[in-house]
Amino acid sequence: MPPPNALQLLQSIFGYEQFRGRQADIVSHVANGGDALVLMPTGGGKSLCYQIPALMRDGCAVVVSPLIALMQDQVEGLHQLGIDAAFLNSTQTLDETRDVERRFMSGSLKLLYVAPERLLTPRFMGLMESGPVSLFAIDEAHCVSQWGHDFRPEYIGLSVLHERFPTVPRIALTATADALTRAEIVKRLALENAAEFVSSFDRPNIRYRIVEKDNARKQLLDFIEREHDGDVGIVYCLSRKRVEDTAQFLCDNGITALPYHAGLSSDVRARNQTRFLREDGIVMVATIAFGMGIDKPDVRFVAHIDLPKSLEGYYQETGRAGRDGLPSNAWLAYGLNDVMQLKEMIENGQAPEAQKQVERQKLSAMLGLAETVACRRQTILAYFGETSAPCGNCDNCLSPPKTWDATEAARKALSCVFRTGQRFGAGHIIDVLLGKRTDKVEMHLHDQVSTFGIGKDMPEAAWRSVLRQLLAGGYLQTEPEFGGLQLTDLARPLLRGELSVQLRGLPEKKRERAERGQKRSAASLDIAPADDALWQALRSKRRALADAQAVPAYLIFSDATLKAMLDAKPATLAEMAHISGVGAQKLERYGLEFLDVLHAS
Ligand code: ADP
Ligand code: ZN
Repeated sequence: MPPPNALQLLQSIFGYEQFRGRQADIVSHVANGGDALVLMPTGGGKSLCYQIPALMRDGCAVVVSPLIALMQDQVEGLHQLGIDAAFLNSTQTLDETRDVERRFMSGSLKLLYVAPERLLTPRFMGLMESGPVSLFAIDEAHCVSQWGHDFRPEYIGLSVLHERFPTVPRIALTATADALTRAEIVKRLALENAAEFVSSFDRPNIRYRIVEKDNARKQLLDFIEREHDGDVGIVYCLSRKRVEDTAQFLCDNGITALPYHAGLSSDVRARNQTRFLREDGIVMVATIAFGMGIDKPDVRFVAHIDLPKSLEGYYQETGRAGRDGLPSNAWLAYGLNDVMQLKEMIENGQAPEAQKQVERQKLSAMLGLAETVACRRQTILAYFGETSAPCGNCDNCLSPPKTWDATEAARKALSCVFRTGQRFGAGHIIDVLLGKRTDKVEMHLHDQVSTFGIGKDMPEAAWRSVLRQLLAGGYLQTEPEFGGLQLTDLARPLLRGELSVQLRGLPEKKRERAERGQKRSAASLDIAPADDALWQALRSKRRALADAQAVPAYLIFSDATLKAMLDAKPATLAEMAHISGVGAQKLERYGLEFLDVLHAS
């Protein structure tokens, strides 16, 4: 039986009409004192799953979060809703700490955020033993997993919570899905008796697109200018150098871009992260060091200009787009060199063979996604064990790629690899196919081999695409030492003519160009031209209110809420109260100001 006031709290405090997905079940389970393990994709709405039980139960919820830098914004978000919340971490003075402890003991605090190392100190343990703890929420619970990439040793110690506080309910939350990690969370946090709530991992508002790379930076700039002028976005790159270069390139072209990678000093990283969170329209160019715990709801695009190493990584990174549920883009540019480079990195790496094997499998799943002609979303969800229908919101659904019978071309390419001795890279193989007399060709007498010039009927780009797909499909592999191309066992039946292959068609330059000028793709907020001035006015009102309090704009109202205001144009405070995201506190604090903006003329 759901506790009677959960929905009422959702509506009055948060201003949302109804629970999403499994939120209602989770809230009532935890509010009734049950333990829970919650797996929900980024943007699914995990926070409410412990925030509402925290409001329903007596005492204070202790929220374990690994990200000190982000606690302040989380707490500020709760203050904006009129909820008494605080955090404890190493950045505070003794006086501040004492004040928080006092509010905790008095029972006035409803939520307290702490880093795990702080939680486990004798002082804090003692405090919790004598004070009113309503529940424990363990955010980013996958940090307990030693196999995951976010491992935090302090998380291991959290098993003590169950021993010391056996009657306090615990809720662990994560967006990382795989079975191994899940089992590890259960074991290490002693959640054997917890109810598991696993949501669909689909993010329907994200449009997935994977394009063939020719000049990644130029393509990226086109993409941003064409579809995301002034929007917030994240661009992921593989190396620090590429982060620096790309950020500079975007800045040179008038886009406010900031770099973020582990090689920058912690000051610079913190400053760039804060600017990304607080200012409008910043593009963060980053390695995968950036992103965990970034709650910014209005990230409109995530672009990858290098191929990620695994589908898990790709999905987690792209998941940072569109947390607010509004249309967003995940855009990836990918080419032959990416495949070569990542394969080489695995083979030349120091990892033991067993781990290399895992890395190869992960890369191969990622390549499968990049090359598929089927629905991207279906392919991704299938990888995570979900079945679904074609989505209608990915590149392959929207304009189904043409395939062609590439058996003949594949045989030419494979036999050219074979004739030249299986030790040369793609560039040289293509030169031989095209019959180019380069120095290297002449030095190795490759103008004498039978495959010299047999590929003149197709342009270089076509051959790159063929080689890339043969590599991705496992007909070719890279040789460990110098990264030269070699045939695999799969190649033999193809060479012997026993097998045919269908490959993805070549990119159509024309079509891309036709799209240009149409401005915004479907993945945008869809503001009618007549409304544009009003939209800008709403945004600048939000900006002014946020600046006055030195908080991020999205903590005042999210884009989704502003858009709902723009569409409904409420005329009174009573009507304003019906806008999704306008709760009692925000109605009182900001309602009139936004009504004034809506009816200024
Ligand atoms: P997660 O932590 O799972 O990534 P959040 O808790 O940050 O997701 O929620 C993502 C966004 O969705 C937030 O802006 C949040 O306010 C909003 N949201 C969550 N639950 C609901 C709901 N039931 N109705 C409307 N918006 C919601
Ligand atoms: Zn699709």
